[in-house]
Amino acid sequence: MPVFVSKFGGTSLSCADGFKNVFDIVRNNPDRRFIVLSAPGKRFNADTKITDLLIRCEETGRRADFTSIQQRFSDIAKEVGVSIENELDEAEENIFSGAGKACAASRGEYLSAKIFSKMSGFAFLDAKNAVFFHNGKIDEEKTKAALNAAFQVQKRIVMPGFYGADEHGKICLFPRGGSDTTGALAAFCIDADAYENWTDVDGVFRSDPALCPGQKPIDRLSYDETGRILDAGAAVLHPDCLYWARKKGTPIIVRNTFRPHLPGTRIGP
Ligand code: ADP
Ligand code: ASP
Ligand code: MG
Repeated sequence: MPVFVSKFGGTSLSCADGFKNVFDIVRNNPDRRFIVLSAPGKRFNADTKITDLLIRCEETGRRADFTSIQQRFSDIAKEVGVSIENELDEAEENIFSGAGKACAASRGEYLSAKIFSKMSGFAFLDAKNAVFFHNGKIDEEKTKAALNAAFQVQKRIVMPGFYGADEHGKICLFPRGGSDTTGALAAFCIDADAYENWTDVDGVFRSDPALCPGQKPIDRLSYDETGRILDAGAAVLHPDCLYWARKKGTPIIVRNTFRPHLPGTRIGP
């Protein structure tokens, strides 16, 4: 049976309707068996991403700054019909007990995946037990072994993007936007048939569709062509995705969570 690793970005998960929408997409194709989630992003232009709120919270050390984070997650959880209160208490404790900036910043992805696991029944896999760093780089063999071991036991998994841990169990982050990389890395490690990257635009365009409207998304791209578009500043995918996709020739499919009937852009060798 084919396996898709499907990653949903913060733009797809900014509110409860986003989570419900993502669940519909996942349910629509049983091949979507390994889900990677980002932290909730902006609901509107002037909004702040959860990751930025978490970083600020850790920097100021003010418990009051955690209130807006708590409120956003509680509202999402309530609307999708699950409880996240214990996990929120645990995250608050992590942030204010000196676990560090990386740990604080990672809690958005952690809580997103917890909510999705509860609403979908997909098994929660903590990235700190499955994505391993050594001296700032991915430990490929260890990550491969952990992801495959987990996937052998649980046939449907949801894992937070953006972070992993070093050999001492300390949380390590990918660069910002790095849930894309987690998805491509997972697809490589479990030998997935495709890596779906679900976002808020119809695919990859020649230039940012938010700045240059009226373009059509590109149907197919090679890794090299995509690399050139990303090098020119397109923030639609993290460029490190291409490294993991190239290694086995995994197709990357960029699709719009809000227009899932569209085919998106297919990127391959
Ligand atoms: P996600 O939250 O799904 O990770 P991002 O905000 O990181 O989403 O990336 C999607 C955004 O990338 C789109 O909203 C779009 O405005 C922007 N973008 C910039 N350049 C491009 C491009 N060439 N093609 C598609 N999207 C682009
Ligand atoms: N939440 C992280 C960020 O804002 C990672 C990601 O969204 O991919 O950078
Ligand atoms: Mg992104």
